[in-house]
Amino acid sequence: MNMGTKYLSILGASGSIGVNALSVVRDFPDNFRVRYLSAHSQADLLIAQAKEFLPDAVAIGDETKYRAVKEALPGIEVLSGRSGLLELASRNNVDIMLNAIVGSAGMEPTINSIKAGVNVALSNKESLVMAGGLIKGLLASEGVDLYPVDSEHSAIWQCLSGEVPTDVKRLIITGSGGPFRTTPRGDFKNVTVAQALNHPNWSMGRKITIDSATLMNKGLEVIEAYWLFDLPVEKINIVIHPQSIVHSMVEFVDGSVKAQLGLPDMKIPIQYALTYPNHFPQSWEQLDLAEIGTLSFEKPDYEKFTCLNLAFEALKTGGSLPVVLNVANEQAVYRFLNGEIGFTQIPELIDQAMNKHDFLEHPDLDDILALEVWTKSFIKRS
Ligand code: NAD
Ligand code: MG
Repeated sequence: MNMGTKYLSILGASGSIGVNALSVVRDFPDNFRVRYLSAHSQADLLIAQAKEFLPDAVAIGDETKYRAVKEALPGIEVLSGRSGLLELASRNNVDIMLNAIVGSAGMEPTINSIKAGVNVALSNKESLVMAGGLIKGLLASEGVDLYPVDSEHSAIWQCLSGEVPTDVKRLIITGSGGPFRTTPRGDFKNVTVAQALNHPNWSMGRKITIDSATLMNKGLEVIEAYWLFDLPVEKINIVIHPQSIVHSMVEFVDGSVKAQLGLPDMKIPIQYALTYPNHFPQSWEQLDLAEIGTLSFEKPDYEKFTCLNLAFEALKTGGSLPVVLNVANEQAVYRFLNGEIGFTQIPELIDQAMNKHDFLEHPDLDDILALEVWTKSFIKRS
């Protein structure tokens, strides 16, 4: 492959996206060299990854595991805690930082890498939901590129390649509809954690799997698309596509629609973000459309999946609302996973937090961090 060697930082390496990214790196040893890795609490996995990929430095979030990681990795620099992660994210001797951290914890690492002049392959959509305006400004001032990793946004990015931006009529973001697409709303109050974690098509981390069951994931993705592709909210639509083969579409002013298709395997958009503008050969099974047979599409049910309305409201109003939406959702999802609240309480708590917080029209980074603290504590005590 004629790409040369790209130096990578993979933050959130121990998660679903991180592990898939390292599998892509493993397939192309001449094209990638891993400089930095981070994990929050899975020290054993981080150690194993570091022994295989020999980074210059690693960061372990959980400070009580610092000593074990340090002893296991002689010759490798080991950082720890939040400050260790933020420091790794600020280093400028990599070509791409892949942000595979889950949740609001990923926002500052995105900002630090952009400030360091490093291109970001962004899986952490929460960064853009919370600080889209700020990040856009920094990308422009630092001359840094953002490569989408989320499959829908990778699809749109590919569909827009070579096109004139003003020719775009709308983006059509597809979503599987999740495990409760055909479940009557009346049954939502009885939904168990195990049922909500049982996604029909994608294998992912726990937080995004619950977001896919409430459809908040689609809402967050609409906000992510708004910042990535510079289109007004009216031009961003959602269509439900249960087979998860069409990853999203772009419609142009002449009615022509471009779509990107592929198997639901995150290695495809991860690899593209890392090899862009090249497509490298696949190490996964072939898409066989005749085998799949049917691709179907339907309208999303906004009455049933009220998280979608909350996300659109947050995007339309802007200001501090998307910050509160994102953090409240994350905390409510963790409470649901812990068995502390029911499935239908997730949107209820988010709605309450959005209504109760002190609205800010133009939050700066300090405001966003303060809103994060307020929202976490609001959801914890609600
Ligand atoms: P995951 O839970 O499997 O992994 C999360 C990673 O973040 C782990 O490495 C963990 O150590 C790290 N982490 C967790 N809490 C942290 C904290 N407080 N500080 C620093 N690091 C922390 O999650 P995932 O499914 O891999 O998702 C990662 C991101 O990618 C999310 O933003 C998700 O929305 C997005 N995404 C995931 C998929 C997917 O298929 N998994 C698809 C599209 C987008
Ligand atoms: Mg997605």
